[in-house]
Amino acid sequence: MTGLPSPRAMLAELVALPSASSFEPELDEGNRAVIDRLAGWAVELGATVRLDELPGPAPRANLVATFGGGDGGLVLAGHTDTVAAEAGAWSRDPLRLAEEDDRLYGLGTCDMKGFFAAALCAAARVAPSGLRAPLHLVATADEECAMEGIRALVAGGLPPARWAVVGEPTGLVPVRAHKGVLMERIVLHGRAAHSSDPAGGVSAVEGMARVLDALLGWRDELQRDHRDEAFAVPVPTLNPGVLRGGDRPNRVCARCELQFDLRSLPGMDQEALRVELCARVARAVAGTGLRFELRSLYPGTAALATPPEAALVRAAEELSGRPATTAPYGTEAPWFAAAGMETIVLGPGDIAQAHRADEFLAADALDAAAMLYADLIERLCR
Ligand SMILES: [Zn+2]
Repeated sequence: MTGLPSPRAMLAELVALPSASSFEPELDEGNRAVIDRLAGWAVELGATVRLDELPGPAPRANLVATFGGGDGGLVLAGHTDTVAAEAGAWSRDPLRLAEEDDRLYGLGTCDMKGFFAAALCAAARVAPSGLRAPLHLVATADEECAMEGIRALVAGGLPPARWAVVGEPTGLVPVRAHKGVLMERIVLHGRAAHSSDPAGGVSAVEGMARVLDALLGWRDELQRDHRDEAFAVPVPTLNPGVLRGGDRPNRVCARCELQFDLRSLPGMDQEALRVELCARVARAVAGTGLRFELRSLYPGTAALATPPEAALVRAAEELSGRPATTAPYGTEAPWFAAAGMETIVLGPGDIAQAHRADEFLAADALDAAAMLYADLIERLCR
């Protein structure tokens, strides 16, 4: 071991560094302070670090810290940003780590600063200089918003590793597959008129009724045509979550907006889904005089589908003592998979704690994660 702080002390330092991402530039805190702290600890452990800055109003960067040399090896990856602490909802200071009832409370403890404390502790335990294949610790920015960090990292070149473990909270159960996520916005533009003589107007609300009907019909078709029993919800889901339009009962509505998310199964092509969406909306409003606009609310997350027999899945099952499973949420894992790495999600904490007031990580999860990561590094890089 080296002079690194204990995992708990590292977590306290990371939690104290604000790093909330926001789509609103004035609220985005960037992640630079967290990246610099991680880079400092990694250098102390003998890593070579690469720091890529991202443009933006707040200082942001990605970090790749490489321990040992050679080809292949293992990536341990996570995001350093958090969501903003919900104003007034926390019963304690979100930036001060507090231990109570064997729980470590603080913003980002579970999602996912605890992962970095555990991963660094694992790196320290295995004496990385003696590794046959390298260990890369990857830390990204902006996962909670537009995923600009991982996309910049891919553009700049991911480390050429053979395996990747994304440390999002899975309760240390290996997750080998997850759904893909799209979030889309449809806006219909019509023409306002007085309701007493509606013929002069074009109602965006009435048009949206047709679009919604078409979307729900599409959902039925998707659920009939796609099924994967590996998932708890074995079909793709489509949720119309936001509907906004009009301002008065006696005015023909000129603008109506619908936002929905679509969770796809592995094997469903997201670009093809967007093309199909466009065709269906166009058909639904054909002949109405309405103009429509489609926009993705974020670039989308692909599904992850690492086969159950993959060596990394097997190793993680054996070392964790838990069979691999699947998840309904998206992560950065598909970007590593797309670069040719065998990829799983495996991290300390319960996803139910993520993005919640009084977020916590069970105190024993930190040490358990550090041990599991150390075992994985020994198995895959020694
Ligand atoms: Zn997360």
